Amino acid sequence: KKTKAAITATLIPGDGIGPEISAAVVAILDAAGAPFKWDKQLGGVAAVDKHGDPAPKPLLDSITKNKIALKGPLATPIGGGYRSINVRLRETFGLYCNLRPVRTLVPGGRYENIDIVLFRENLEGLYVAWEHYLNIDGDPHAVAVSSGINTRAGSKRICEAAFEYAVKHKRKKVTVVHKANVLKALTGIFLETGKMVAKDYPKIECNDRIVDACAMELVLNPWKYDVIVTTNLFGDILSDLLAGLVGGLGMAPGANIGDGAAIFEAVHGSAPDIAGKGIANPLALLLAANLMLDHVGEEAISKRINNAIDAVLNKDNIRTGDLGGKATTKQFANAVIKRLK
Ligand code: NAD
Repeated sequence: KKTKAAITATLIPGDGIGPEISAAVVAILDAAGAPFKWDKQLGGVAAVDKHGDPAPKPLLDSITKNKIALKGPLATPIGGGYRSINVRLRETFGLYCNLRPVRTLVPGGRYENIDIVLFRENLEGLYVAWEHYLNIDGDPHAVAVSSGINTRAGSKRICEAAFEYAVKHKRKKVTVVHKANVLKALTGIFLETGKMVAKDYPKIECNDRIVDACAMELVLNPWKYDVIVTTNLFGDILSDLLAGLVGGLGMAPGANIGDGAAIFEAVHGSAPDIAGKGIANPLALLLAANLMLDHVGEEAISKRINNAIDAVLNKDNIRTGDLGGKATTKQFANAVIKRLK
């Protein structure tokens, strides 16, 4: 049953396994009564074929208008000098917040009972890539120079996003991860700002960790962590480390959120090796859709879908091949739909 007026959202099925997993996810969302009405758009290689651009104008216009999108994996066309479409979307829509939750879904992996949420600053830091080489003694690449940029405002909004999330989702602790002992200005400003923001959230415990120590602790004792907030480069690395703790990128969702728009995605790629076979795991995109439901205030629906996922994986023992099962994409989706009823 639809609870609210429909929300028009952009749907980018994407390349490779994208169309298969997005069809599965849309069917599950419909069965759960999610309020989305889909405005389907081409992106990636599919869009190059039709529009000559992996991020064509109709796609960008649709996201501008709807402000919310679910994105399947997009293959970056090889050759032709195309920039990563994900970076382009991030810059076009000012998506400063990259949200990467990781949770153990199937036991038997390396770690159990993991439930960590990472907030990565998505636009600043060393990834502004202000880089150049110095030519010395005829060697044009004698020296490489890169400048990183972190701002008070940029650090503040991502730290606030992390604390707001902690309050909303009844989390206990936020850890600010940095390297302020060496990069005293670049990441010192992030730590300083994080501590400042923490003062506005006295009920949430706040601590900080140097990124190398954090990486070690995440491997030795990940249960110490709850919500992590960090700068662009460290967040990029740690978010994949976290995905590894719970069984790899195959089940990892991500959200890219800005003031103007929010784009929800599976972290994995278009899996060309299994595309068209109907065996891809739709879980990462489904978990991304759950983040999207949370974003529009439909937490009750995302919770029901999460419960159905847990039941299908661990009670019905229905899993796709990447998780050691035999189910096809459709069989898995149908099992989730059955559990929703
Ligand atoms: P990939 O994630 O597509 O595949 C890596 C391996 O994981 C493959 O063996 C694949 O079969 C498997 N896999 C991935 N998703 C799966 C799923 N849902 N179910 C079952 N198995 C799954 O990485 P790749 O091969 O390096 O990249 C392929 C293409 O995807 C490239 O063009 C790359 O640029 C693009 N890519 C896009 C995104 C994105 O849009 N967010 C992310 C990464 C890669």
